[in-house]
Amino acid sequence: NSSLHEVDPDVAAAVDAELHRQQSTLEMIASENFAPVASLEAQGSVLTNKYAEGYPGRRYYGGCEHVDVIEDIARERIKALFGAEAANVQPHSGASANAAAMFALLKPGDTIMGLDLAHGGHLTHGMKINFSGKLYNVVAYHVDEKTSQVDMDEVGRLAREHRPQMIIAGWSAYPRHLDFAAFRRIADEVGALLMVDMAHFAGLVAAGLHPSPVPHADVVTTTTHKTLGGPRGGVILSKQEYAKKINSAVFPGQQGGPLEHVIAAKAVSFKIAASEEFKERQERTVAGARLLAERLLKQDAVDAGVSVLSGGTDVHLILVDLRNSDLDGQQAEDRLHEIGITVNRNAVPNDPRPPMVTSGLRIGTPALATRGFQEEDFREVADILAEALLPGFDEDKAKSLSARVTALTEKHPLYSGLGR
Ligand code: PLP
Repeated sequence: NSSLHEVDPDVAAAVDAELHRQQSTLEMIASENFAPVASLEAQGSVLTNKYAEGYPGRRYYGGCEHVDVIEDIARERIKALFGAEAANVQPHSGASANAAAMFALLKPGDTIMGLDLAHGGHLTHGMKINFSGKLYNVVAYHVDEKTSQVDMDEVGRLAREHRPQMIIAGWSAYPRHLDFAAFRRIADEVGALLMVDMAHFAGLVAAGLHPSPVPHADVVTTTTHKTLGGPRGGVILSKQEYAKKINSAVFPGQQGGPLEHVIAAKAVSFKIAASEEFKERQERTVAGARLLAERLLKQDAVDAGVSVLSGGTDVHLILVDLRNSDLDGQQAEDRLHEIGITVNRNAVPNDPRPPMVTSGLRIGTPALATRGFQEEDFREVADILAEALLPGFDEDKAKSLSARVTALTEKHPLYSGLGR
């Protein structure tokens, strides 16, 4: 019964250091968030000890009466949250959710269409050395060079030419809404299934701030740890007619025992996601991203060759375009890291610089909104970003920007009750 600090001071020290890092910096990686303490508590519970292969009421192990209650609550909550007919809450991650959904509905060698990785798609949407690229014949669609938005004419043309079995709509780095009805029309025209991966924008959908893919798609996958703000994990929502196939693709097709401690933490976060407070947080998330875009579209940014892809954002992230800037993605990421802001560099479509360097940054607001940031705080963050990325950055500037970052972290304390 000894504590982590007693049993393993080395691991404990690293956990403490990570807590301090999260508390003392501005987390702006678009795919990250801060899980609520209630969710951390569920995930750190004795549920981690339990084997529960199968589904509630049909388990291959005894003693599942309590985890059955939890998994049923999680399924019912997420179905209600998104108006879905069926839900599987067992996928360990977003990638496993996508693998299971494709395994359920496709045969190896089938053709899938997904947004090109270099244009904002995800690895599991058909990247060459990912399972999706190895098992399926991949036809990638792209964003339009001028608008940086998905080219639906190209999606239609490629679908008619290649007759895919599945079209995947969804993204990891894209700042606009997708037209799910248009994807549905194209899928129907060529007899394809439509899968939407809403991992990034699920929280916005839950809050009613983003069109829902659920009425349009045969299957919708998501992660639970991005805008949705819960524990690291995945979920598959579907029409009832696919539920059986999907359940058997998750278990025993892809996984063994479900992580009931994570499922409990998912259930907690789904409850929170149905609240008014969550909706208000998502509104601040989107408003914050807009403020960042507006600042980085001003004349001083234009003069420095810094821009924002697609000319703005509808969601929780912006994509900074550094193609015309002397600063590359790696230098920009390092510079922000130096002043206490964590982001990731990101290739922009048709990036002239190599993939390890890139000409872009992906900057997101979900974690700061969870921390309580208001519009005035996002304005200050936007000014700090601009001062860091535009000409004139030197050691003195770095010091003063660091101090402004620290002031913001102190204004909005995080996980105050945790740690030593
Ligand atoms: N789908 C999308 C659109 C994503 O952006 C991601 C993660 O970045 C995933 C799936 C994969 O999620 P995970 O990292 O949990 O496997």
